[in-house]
Amino acid sequence: MNIYKALKMYFGYDEFKKGQEKLVNGIIEGRDALGIMPTGGGKSLCYQLPAVILEGVTIVISPLISLMKDQVDSLNEIGIEATYINSTLEYDEFMSRVDDIRRDKYKIVYVAPERLNTGLFENLIKYMKISLVAIDEAHCISQWGHDFRPSYLEIPRFIKTLNTRPIVAAFTATATKEIVEEIKRLIELKNPLEAITGFDRPNLYYQVVKTSNKLNYLLDYLNNNFEDDSGIIYCATRKTVESLVRRLNDKGFSAIPYHGGMGSNIRQKNQDDFIFNKARIIVATNAFGMGIDKPDVRFVIHYNMPKNMEAYYQEAGRAGRDGEKSECLLMYSPSDVVKQKLIIQNNELTEERERLLYKNLQYLIDYCHTNDCLRNCILKYFGEDIKNNKCNNCSNCLDETEMVDITVESQKILSCIYRVNERYGINTIILVLKGSKSKKILELGLNKVSTYGIMENYNNDSIKEIIMHLVSMGYIYITADKFPILKLTQTSKTVLKNQVKVYHKRNLVEQRSTSNKDDWIKKEINIHFDKELFNRLKELRKEKAQEKNVPVFIIFHDK
Ligand code: ADP
Ligand code: MG
Ligand code: ZN
Repeated sequence: MNIYKALKMYFGYDEFKKGQEKLVNGIIEGRDALGIMPTGGGKSLCYQLPAVILEGVTIVISPLISLMKDQVDSLNEIGIEATYINSTLEYDEFMSRVDDIRRDKYKIVYVAPERLNTGLFENLIKYMKISLVAIDEAHCISQWGHDFRPSYLEIPRFIKTLNTRPIVAAFTATATKEIVEEIKRLIELKNPLEAITGFDRPNLYYQVVKTSNKLNYLLDYLNNNFEDDSGIIYCATRKTVESLVRRLNDKGFSAIPYHGGMGSNIRQKNQDDFIFNKARIIVATNAFGMGIDKPDVRFVIHYNMPKNMEAYYQEAGRAGRDGEKSECLLMYSPSDVVKQKLIIQNNELTEERERLLYKNLQYLIDYCHTNDCLRNCILKYFGEDIKNNKCNNCSNCLDETEMVDITVESQKILSCIYRVNERYGINTIILVLKGSKSKKILELGLNKVSTYGIMENYNNDSIKEIIMHLVSMGYIYITADKFPILKLTQTSKTVLKNQVKVYHKRNLVEQRSTSNKDDWIKKEINIHFDKELFNRLKELRKEKAQEKNVPVFIIFHDK
């Protein structure tokens, strides 16, 4: 049967998606293959279709145990004999499948990588004619990536135990050079046919917001935008997942949690409830989503920034697989950046790896700060050619945000770094700019530098934001030391000498405080500014002031 006929007959499609035809042809001609296609790009078909054409059996190695049943069921529905072997099977069921496999009943057998080394499986493959080994989510083999599975490292050994070397095809949505090289090397692909297809997802609207009150923003956004549509909200920690679900439920949203700390039964149930529209919103850590094919996810919101563009794009890409308009919102806050940096610092890593992780993180920070088209920023990361300056489907292209001139603020910050001889970190610089009377500043004599107190009317977050902006624009360099130091760069002087202007979008500088009398509270609530709390405190302060005329001091913790 030819591939076009098989495409129509089994899968019901008239045409291939980008890259599929090339990969399918290569594989049936006997070549190893490496398919790099975005989430929703149609990777499964690239091994399922050859499987029906090739003689013998195709083994599909996949880490997605919870999805194997669905995948196998849908194959069986379209008349392709398939089964799976993983730890969820009862012994009897397992043995009956083994019998069927020995009797050549199946064209496709899904296995979890952990099964490859078991005696039973090794015994079983002696009876099978395996023509193709397809490795799905192949980036799981790389320790550099975000989904490393040690059992993937056993794959090459498994392939070598086979009597004749099968065709080996690997698939992933991960496109960074380091990881792609590692996949090829570790899986030992032989002169593979490579297909890297377009990473652009024109139906996705990208948006970055910087807000001091994420929760309120989120509630407004959900109330005003999606009616009953489904969506995913990603959070950095299990704790945030739990608390956000509670808040959403309180406000009447049908939201359920998903994270690695929950039992696997309830996790599976919540996943199903989301997929089958019994719950509208799933709030999850990055444990959720790999391989999930829910076509009508209308929004993916990142309540916290993930660790790099790779992770962001994979997660955001779970929106709009059906090609309909969908939104990807990233909520940026400097404290998330700090947290990601702490995570990197607290892992004992080689210098090289640490530098790479910083670099990858920095790209996503730059994405949050850029004034250019967000889509282009993403596509550049994946090495694609940029066709237009503007995509007209991202917040930077469409929003009527006012550009605010922050040249003066930038000059103040840069000259402060210069005046303290480029020897201090971000927190000290902020203290100097604000004219802090803390012991540390006085002891270091920093109250004597000429820039002391020149930004006393700004709150810490605003200064920090502007500094981060300057970092992302390359006007400040942060050293990769244990205690990172702010230094000037080659281009800093163009700002200092008034040769260029620095702009930022309105919503950033909004936070700038002038003579606002609520300021004393905002300063305290540095990281998670909570409006409810803020109003309560204002009341409290009024009461106390009337009673005794004394100020109230309250210490806040992050979260
Ligand atoms: P990936 O694994 O790359 O994320 P999938 O293999 O799950 O993507 O496919 C994503 C969606 O695209 C599925 O719903 C699939 O049925 C659909 N699809 C795959 N190939 C084609 C095609 N040639 N034409 C139309 N739809 C396709
Ligand atoms: Mg897939
Ligand atoms: Zn754009």
